[in-house]
Parts: sequence; C-alpha cells; structure tokens
Amino acid sequence: MTAHDPSLNRRGGLLGWLGLGQRDDAASPHDTPASGTDRRQSVRDRHLDEIGAFLSYHQLEVNAQTLVVASNYLTGNDPQIVRLIDRRVQAREPVTLDWLEDSLAEEGMGEEAELLERLMQRLEQGVEEFGKTSRAAREATNAYHSELSKEAGKLEAVPSTGAVITELATITKAMLKRTLEIERAMQRSEEQTRSLKHKLEETRRSAEEDHLTGLPNRRAFEARYEAEYRAARAAAEPLCVAFCDIDHFKRVNDTHGHDAGDRVLKLVADNLARISDERCHVARHGGEEFVVLFRDTTVAEAFEKLDRLRAQLADRHLVNRATEVPIEQVTFSAGIADVFATGERRAALRAADAALYRAKLDGRNRVIIAEPGELKPAQLAA
Ligand code: GH3
Ligand code: MG
Ligand code: MG
Repeated sequence: MTAHDPSLNRRGGLLGWLGLGQRDDAASPHDTPASGTDRRQSVRDRHLDEIGAFLSYHQLEVNAQTLVVASNYLTGNDPQIVRLIDRRVQAREPVTLDWLEDSLAEEGMGEEAELLERLMQRLEQGVEEFGKTSRAAREATNAYHSELSKEAGKLEAVPSTGAVITELATITKAMLKRTLEIERAMQRSEEQTRSLKHKLEETRRSAEEDHLTGLPNRRAFEARYEAEYRAARAAAEPLCVAFCDIDHFKRVNDTHGHDAGDRVLKLVADNLARISDERCHVARHGGEEFVVLFRDTTVAEAFEKLDRLRAQLADRHLVNRATEVPIEQVTFSAGIADVFATGERRAALRAADAALYRAKLDGRNRVIIAEPGELKPAQLAA
C-alpha cells in the first residue's frame, strides 16, 4: 500500500480542482510540444496532479499547509514528513492534519531536546575534565614548590657560598616565585571553572523550567515521562497521566488583564504543585494547560487526588490584587488516563486529552477518567 493512490485523483487534477483549468489550454502558441517549457510544465502538472491525488486519498482539505506537506512528501524534500507518513500508512492509521501537527511538534521538540541535552552533556563533561586536570596540575605544582623550598633551605645552609652555589640559589628562588605564581593562577582558574559549572547547572535548570510558574516545562515533562514510563513498566507499577486546563481562562485575561491572568496561572500552578512529590510530577504543558504524572498510583487514586485539588481551588474566592475587584470562580477541568491500560505513552496522552475535552463538554470544573484508547471526536472522524 502506498501513501496515496493516484487512481483516486479527481478529474482534471489539482488545477481543475482548484478551478484553474487544464494547463494545456494556457500553453503558449509559440511553444512546440517538445519544447523545454512544455516539458517543465508537464512535470509541474504531474506534480500538482499527484498532490491532488494525495490530498484526495487522505481526505485532507486543500490549504497552504496540506499543499506543502503533500509536496514535501511526494518530492521527498522533507524526510521527516516522509518517515512519519509512511509509518502512519503502514500502521493503517489515518493521516490527518491534527495528527500531523502533533507529530511534527513532538518530533521537533524531541530533536531539539536531544540536541540541547547532548550539548549540555559535552559542556559539562568538558568542564568536569578541565576541573580535574587543573586541580591535578595545581597539586603537582604545590608539591614541586614544597620540594623546591626544601632545596632552597639546604642551599642557604651551605657555608661556602661559591659562585655556582649563589647562582643556584638565585635560580631556585626565581623558580619558587614562579611556582607560587602558577599555583595562584591555577587556583583562580579552578574558581572560574567552579563558577562555570554552577552557571551550566543554572542553564540546565532554566532550560527545563517554566519561568512564569516555576514548574518544569513541557520539555522537562517529556524527558520525565519517558523515564517514568520505562521505570514503571520495569517495576510493573501503575502509571497515570492527566491533562488539566483552566476553565474560561481567556475571560480572566479579558476581564482583569493579562497580568492578573498571569497571577491566576501561577496560583493554579502552585495549587497543583502541592500534590507533587517523588511519585507525582506536575509540569506546565503550555498556555493554561498543565500535565500531571502519577507514578505507582492507580487511576482511582489519581482521580481522588486531582479531584480534591479541583474542589479546593473551586472553593477559593480570589480578588484581583491590583484593582481589588473579585475574580470570578477559577476552576480547571482534567482528563486522566491509565497509561498501561491505554497501551503506550503517546496514546495515553491522547486519551487524557480526549477525556479533558469531554470534561469541558460536560460543563467544566470536573475530572474525567479516560476510556482506554479514548479519542477526541475530531480524531474519531478522521
Ligand atoms: P476553556 O475552558 O475551553 O479552556 O476556555 P479558555 O478560555 O480557557 O481557553 P482558550 O484556549 O480559548 O484560551 C486560553 C487563553 O489562555 C488564551 C491565552 O491568551 C491565555 N494564555 C495562555 N498562556 C498565557 C499566559 O502565560 N498568561 C496569560 N495571562 N494568559 C495566557
Ligand atoms: Mg482553558
Ligand atoms: Mg487550553
């Protein structure tokens, strides 16, 4: 099976489909049938027809994005798209815009995170090695300096100070001074290395932290999810994942301003962070959406924890501290999925997201447990 079947092409190709007519009609009367212009035109027409067939076969709407995807797939210009679509087709799963956007975002994030991780590791290793070498060199210089000062002492004790001895004593003193200088320079270099190491640690933290809420960001979550998934599977422990999304958050921004919105976001983040411990990881997934990972926790326990938090937040009476105007009830909706009941990591995220969507439809301010393999209606229709 190929990713598209040209026999399904719409009559008249994509040009006809787009209402642009057949290129033949527009051919210049000066072009002979075998001219280079004609050949190029016919290659272009064929390419457009193939694009049309691809979009039609996958029932994708015609828009700038799908045209680019189809063209990149058919020409092989974008190996990532080719790989993703081929895998999808082989798995007999539908190629939809939603899926494509998600997959490209995930892959992009994965690659970026990997690149950053490799760079950080190389830098950390480099600094570590340099630190060791410079410490060893300083220690050696220090030992040499002590030996030298003993010799200098002996030389001074020699009674008959002939020319050679005097010369030797001068050289030794100069060497002593030099080793001392080197030792001090190395000490400074070690201090600089330590501060570099500290800065690197800070950079690593900041690359994985959401600056507004102080929570781990989506990149950190992805890495954590992968690690916890492996560990939980190896230990045969349950693992659950939940998406939480603040309800009608746009209204908070619209009514009270973006700064107040930021403070509400921070407040929800702080509330969610209260349940985090070594078995529960809370991260900001983006916008007003958070993701929670429950390790060694059944879906019923995870539900209870999250629902208690939801109820506590819903009970709070908030006031915009800049204007003293009360802020209407702040709530969130959530969807939880049992990762291993759903099958695998990505499917669990999709199921949790679909359950969150259901929670929104059911009236918000609620937590819903996903059915295994649950999908959003849009994904089901695709
Ligand atoms: P729903 O209940 O369906 O989730 O409605 P909603 O209004 O929460 O969802 P919608 O997606 O329509 O709007 C989300 C808003 O969140 C829009 C965006 O401007 C706002 N937002 C995202 N990130 C931030 C942020 O960092 N700070 C602030 N103040 N607003 C943000
Ligand atoms: Mg929202
Ligand atoms: Mg949202």
